[in-house]
Amino acid sequence: MHIEIDGWKVGIRFSASHFIPGHHKCARLHGHDYGVRVRIYGETKDCMLYDFVELKKIVRKIADEIDHHVMIPRSQEFIKHHINGNEVSIEFDGKRYTFPAKDVVFLDLKLTTAEELARYFAKKVLQAISFPANVKGFEICVDEGPGQGACHYEEVSA
Ligand SMILES: [Zn+2]
Repeated sequence: MHIEIDGWKVGIRFSASHFIPGHHKCARLHGHDYGVRVRIYGETKDCMLYDFVELKKIVRKIADEIDHHVMIPRSQEFIKHHINGNEVSIEFDGKRYTFPAKDVVFLDLKLTTAEELARYFAKKVLQAISFPANVKGFEICVDEGPGQGACHYEEVSA
């Protein structure tokens, strides 16, 4: 059995901008309206699998931290960044952008693709929730607009 929340319908979405180095179109700074969907798999205990309220609260907090920011990977593998006081400069593909530090959010990933963002959300959920033994795993999908997204499945060991 699984339970699910659809961020498009329950208001777990965020707007943010990013760039994907080397991509013919996405290497230019642009933004998306992202929606987050979650499924939790397992068996029911006392007729419930997991508390919707708790799940929404945790996933919404992760989304809110990113909302209305420029997303920058913390890894320097593909995008180099330098912090100079109140400014963050980034370089890739022979280009350089400078942003006010308060407009930027650093994320622990290599690139801000939907795939990496789904992995990021899964990691944050794992840090925030000690799942009960009846939960076997969960899937998080990050959509770049409705109908296009990446899903990451994480097994939960009791
Ligand atoms: Zn994009």
